Amino acid sequence: MDTHAFKRSLHHSDRYNRRGFGRAEEVAGSLEQAYQSSLIGSIRDNGYGLTHGRLQVRLAEAFGFCWGVERAVAMAYETRRHYPQERIWITNEIIHNPSVNDHLREMDVLFISVEGGVKDFSGVASGDVVILPAFGATVQEMKLLNERGCHIVDTTCPWVSKVWTTVEKHKKQSFTSIIHGKVKHEETLATSSFAGTYLVVLDLEEARLVAEYILGNGNRESFMERFSKACSPGFDPDRDLEHLGVANQTTMLKSETEEIGRLFERTMLSKYGPTELNEHFLAFNTICDATQERQDAMFSLVDETVDLMVVIGGYNSSNTTHLQEIAVTRGIRSFHIDTPERIHSDNSIEHKPLGEELTVEELFLPSGPITVGITSGASTPDRVVEHVIQRLIALSEN
Ligand code: SF4
Repeated sequence: MDTHAFKRSLHHSDRYNRRGFGRAEEVAGSLEQAYQSSLIGSIRDNGYGLTHGRLQVRLAEAFGFCWGVERAVAMAYETRRHYPQERIWITNEIIHNPSVNDHLREMDVLFISVEGGVKDFSGVASGDVVILPAFGATVQEMKLLNERGCHIVDTTCPWVSKVWTTVEKHKKQSFTSIIHGKVKHEETLATSSFAGTYLVVLDLEEARLVAEYILGNGNRESFMERFSKACSPGFDPDRDLEHLGVANQTTMLKSETEEIGRLFERTMLSKYGPTELNEHFLAFNTICDATQERQDAMFSLVDETVDLMVVIGGYNSSNTTHLQEIAVTRGIRSFHIDTPERIHSDNSIEHKPLGEELTVEELFLPSGPITVGITSGASTPDRVVEHVIQRLIALSEN
């Protein structure tokens, strides 16, 4: 499909909106009440620290809502105002945060159900309003909704749209897109739907396998076994790795994407030489900083003396999991929770250790003076962080 032409025609449709409805002021009060926090504001003003009795709280200097998420949530609120009577759907969680999604449910926004990994659009009718989330939707979903006569409110972050434009450029020039991301993540699914030939690599280790294959040091069978679910239909590593461009899932670590880009540039340079490099490799320069900023702030925080870390964010949030990884790598006692309610008044905490199922730990806050580091993923509102701190304060007083 010519995704570029489809997008262009969609953007001209009067049933499509990607700029909001000019109702920012009308929804500002509700957004502030639901998501912002004066406590967090004062902790920020106080050098990101708070002392309460024996408890010291250290906040990461960059955490929580990024620009794209704030924009998407505000657009969803505006949509409800703009269409007070219409049925409103969202194709997925608008962002990976349970409290935000709960607020939307309270506003009668319906979520498209998913059965066995497949979305069920059967309930969506002509004239319904459908919100596309911050990390986008596949081109097939957009086409279906458009053909069904829905009003589409597209909150896809412009940084994500830029990545789509990048893979479309690769496609136009018959280059393969190497997408640094998680195969099943909605954003990567959406990006690959706009790409032509593509291969998804999870990390530098997988990228190195691909680079070695390009240089003739791989085995076709084991390559296909490893990447069979991470490439476009009919992908042939002997044919499709001669012309490459790099793209990313925006919540991956920026420094890792850049390193993957440099790796492929070096690989193509060594295979084809400097005069032909530009015919075989397209540089990539549209990486969003928000994820990296949060990770850099987390590195600074774990360099301080913190006794334990609380990492707040949805369990399916990629950037929150990366934050948790940093604490775990440093050997810091660390708890990933998605809502404040996971911290119980009996000093136990229900949390998700990295790569494991939810578990309950008793004696969460130890006795005596304690310093707790706190951070949150790009989809977590300040209000949630505030409620976590309030629970910590209450526990420390017991
Ligand atoms: S992390 Fe970056 S790309 Fe993703 S929604 Fe936020 S601002 Fe947009």
